[in-house]
Amino acid sequence: MGKKSVQEWADDVVKNDEIDRYLDSGKDFIDHEAIESHLSQNQNPDKIKIRDIIQKSLSIQRLDPDETAALLHVRDKELREEMAAAALEVKRKVYDNRIVIFAPLYCSNVCVNNCLYCGFRKDNTHEKRRVLTPDEVRKEAQALVKMGHKRLIAVYGEHPLSDADYMAETIKAIYEVNEKTRKGTGSIRRVNVNAAPLSIEDFKKLWKAGIGTFQVFQETYHRPTYQKMHPTGPKSDYRWRLYTHHRAMEAGIDDVAIGALFGLYRWRYDVMGLLYHAIDLEEKFDGIGPHTVSFPRLMPADNAPYSEHTEHLVSDDDFKHLVTVLRLSIPYTGMIITARERPELRKEVIKLGCTQTDASTRIGLGAYSEQYDRQEKDRQQFVLGDTRELDDVVRELAELGMISSFCTAGYRCGRTGDKIMGLLKCGTEGKFCKLNAVLTFREWLDDFSSPETQKIGEALIKKEIDEIHKDPFFANNPLLKEFEEYYTRVSGGERDLFL
Ligand code: SAM
Ligand code: SF4
Repeated sequence: MGKKSVQEWADDVVKNDEIDRYLDSGKDFIDHEAIESHLSQNQNPDKIKIRDIIQKSLSIQRLDPDETAALLHVRDKELREEMAAAALEVKRKVYDNRIVIFAPLYCSNVCVNNCLYCGFRKDNTHEKRRVLTPDEVRKEAQALVKMGHKRLIAVYGEHPLSDADYMAETIKAIYEVNEKTRKGTGSIRRVNVNAAPLSIEDFKKLWKAGIGTFQVFQETYHRPTYQKMHPTGPKSDYRWRLYTHHRAMEAGIDDVAIGALFGLYRWRYDVMGLLYHAIDLEEKFDGIGPHTVSFPRLMPADNAPYSEHTEHLVSDDDFKHLVTVLRLSIPYTGMIITARERPELRKEVIKLGCTQTDASTRIGLGAYSEQYDRQEKDRQQFVLGDTRELDDVVRELAELGMISSFCTAGYRCGRTGDKIMGLLKCGTEGKFCKLNAVLTFREWLDDFSSPETQKIGEALIKKEIDEIHKDPFFANNPLLKEFEEYYTRVSGGERDLFL
């Protein structure tokens, strides 16, 4: 048989039997009527009910759809402030004060789909198309390692030129990078992927290549809007996308990440969709919900008219509220705020319980190693709100009392999937993370920080170590001794030690 054309390849992507096996009596888990009914019955929630719901969340229990719908309709200023304070408290209980840092690495922008809001869509003839060679990807990773990054998310368009084999090859290329730094050496220790939905067989290829988390956003859970936004290509199949994470889990990737693109449809509806998604994953995979949830807002994209003219664009206030509600609804799930948002807003939203953010972000192909203008429209997917360097972001977080974590230990010690969920729910993972966050922050300060950031960072590390010594969890715990030994070794230039 000859080589398939691009169209034949695209027509062959969706495997219906890999959708049907997860349906319940032919139905998917997005129950439109139930969502609308929860939303309409909770338009004016009672104060006492809201305070009870906040308490439930503070005891680190996932909320029910009815409870989430009630939170989504809170307008009272005082209650909103209570919710915001509880969101931060929940995050502290589960994740302490650390923020995990990563950077996106765009590997390809060829695409067979036509998402109306995306600069990479097939019919956008303005876009300069490119598929980085594994060598070019390696160069990008080298540039990122030199900035101090340890964790990446590799991003791909959907196309036969950037299929699962290409993804596996580029993941391997990234892991091969090893660069000398000021005091030690640096490498990328975790490669996550954001790409189109794959089949179970293709997911196994990524698992073998050592993928961390597989991330895919449903964009909107409202099916008619989904169909309108994704007119052609494999992405037009709503259910193929809806069950992506189920297939990834079946293939052995037990860290999966969900998200919705806010601005396509009513934001309250899509928050409910994310909750239903988390619940279905927990139900089908022994309590393992999504590792993280993302809530990107629609940004202007070149030659993608829908990115700027939609009736559902989300205001800053509504955005902050929806992030708060998500934090309270799925208290043990990581939450990612990206450089799509402006620095001032990102700073506020981080305080609502986010656990991860990106820094020194560039979303053009080859943009880290080739040093062209970061906001060149025809080379990137959309326009970024925050292009600050990693050092600036780390310093700002430290000023807020938050420690930037470059830790990837959980994943490499097998603390993933059901194991990490159990540890997160009981707060133990936060303890390991605190120790590892300090170790990786020590490395980072010594290898990459500016003198200004170093000064603020040292004070923060000292405070963290004091807290560790005072925490009853570590008293008489052999972990403490081990930590102290590792801290001395890392300070002496040894790298990549973790507990
Ligand atoms: N092609 C894959 C897909 O669609 O799943 C993965 C890469 S795509 C570049 C990653 C995500 O970018 C999409 O899932 C979408 O949510 C987001 N995105 C696309 N256009 C955007 C825009 N104009 N503003 C903000 N985010 C956008
Ligand atoms: Fe392609 Fe993803 Fe952009 Fe859609 S969002 S056009 S699938 S790159």
